[in-house]
Amino acid sequence: MLDTLLDLVFPQWCAGCGRWDTPLCEECRAEFLSRWRDCSADAPFLMLVREDGEEPAFPVFCLGTYEGRRRRCIISWKNQASAPLDHAMASLIPDVAGLALPEHVTVVPAPSSPSRERRGMFVAGVLGQQVAELGGWRYANVLRKAKRNWKREIELRADVALGRARRGLRIQARGAKSRAMSVRRLNGDVVLVDDVLTTGATLAGAAHAVADAGGRVVGAFVLASAKNPRRV
Ligand SMILES: [Zn+2]
Repeated sequence: MLDTLLDLVFPQWCAGCGRWDTPLCEECRAEFLSRWRDCSADAPFLMLVREDGEEPAFPVFCLGTYEGRRRRCIISWKNQASAPLDHAMASLIPDVAGLALPEHVTVVPAPSSPSRERRGMFVAGVLGQQVAELGGWRYANVLRKAKRNWKREIELRADVALGRARRGLRIQARGAKSRAMSVRRLNGDVVLVDDVLTTGATLAGAAHAVADAGGRVVGAFVLASAKNPRRV
């Protein structure tokens, strides 16, 4: 009866298609029923340039591309505080066994804004806790967004836009984003978790912050990955 009452007060509709009376309908659920696949090659900011080509800094496991219902589900999930939806999405996360990751890692979610976290809208946190439970790993929400240096970022972007690119400018531009995160007390192997992989800049920034704190990122998990921006 309490459930019925709560449904009346807080009605539920599907995050992916808007269908009434369920946080996530069967068809939208099916969008996430897949195995982890490595999509790190689609993220330009995660590429390490070597003499004989480039390779991703670490594997990034995802459940599909960021489009259609899957994209709508994720956007809608990010923008509402709903325990039933958190639960429904977490239940879709497949097992992490057999992914060639170390036995002992710390699962660290990409940082959200403190106000979103307070309001219960922390998708990376829900995912991170689920991944940690499946892998029998430690979960630690230790990354924080540092204050952004807007003046510096605007200067860097203007330089790029106006073609005033100097040697090493791209590295600096990456640095601007990587410095936008800080981390306390962390060592050993780390697995990052975020909702979506786009250019890889967020994960690269997080990996820098983890390295600064003495840890090492050995992999990452995301729900979906955007199409490779270089190919698009
Ligand atoms: Zn649906």
